[in-house]
Amino acid sequence: MENCIFCKIINGEIPSTKVYENDQVYAFRDINPQTPFHVLVIPKKHVSSLSETDQLNDAEIAACLRAVSRVAAEAGLSGGYRVISNCGPDACQSVPHLHFHVLGGRQMALRMA
Ligand code: AMP
Repeated sequence: MENCIFCKIINGEIPSTKVYENDQVYAFRDINPQTPFHVLVIPKKHVSSLSETDQLNDAEIAACLRAVSRVAAEAGLSGGYRVISNCGPDACQSVPHLHFHVLGGRQMALRMA
């Protein structure tokens, strides 16, 4: 997708710190980490948010979730981690390419919003 910053990251047009990649997903460090470990997992196929998962096939959706657990395991987040996908303006989604925040490395607050 033209003008999508995450598509540009996947294509190498914008630099990123890669954590994991396979045919279907790309995972990289968030540029503005909210926790000691903060990685974004994104599908390589452009869809704007979770509202458009009907544009992904089951394997692509599964690949995202498998990548989430893989990057968390490889980071040694044995105490746990939080996964967030902001979807649309009420959730303050700022980049319209589906992404899963994987947050960990410290105790988090009970409240989520
Ligand atoms: P959201 O607000 O849920 O759409 O999250 C978008 C995330 O993308 C934010 O946490 C940003 O810090 C992150 N972000 C934006 N641009 C970049 C970039 N060039 N490299 C890494 N992370 C980015």
